Amino acid sequence: MAQCKDIVEEASEYIDGDLPLRRRISLFYHLVICKCCRIYLQNIKKTINTVRTLRPKEPAIHDIKDFAERLRVESESEKLK
Ligand SMILES: [Zn+2]
Repeated sequence: MAQCKDIVEEASEYIDGDLPLRRRISLFYHLVICKCCRIYLQNIKKTINTVRTLRPKEPAIHDIKDFAERLRVESESEKLK
């Protein structure tokens, strides 16, 4: 069974469909039970769409990962409040 850290590490591959089927299913089942990761993944999808709209010719994968990491840190500090 996938864990939250797996979602964080493999979110962009999951969205792009680059993971093997078994891995996708494992992440999918985690998303079913974990609301935090669903929200996290939605935020990444929005980010990717925004980046692709702004810069369609550059994949900007590093920017997405940096941004995703920031979102994750922000959502974790939200939880502590
Ligand atoms: Zn999770």
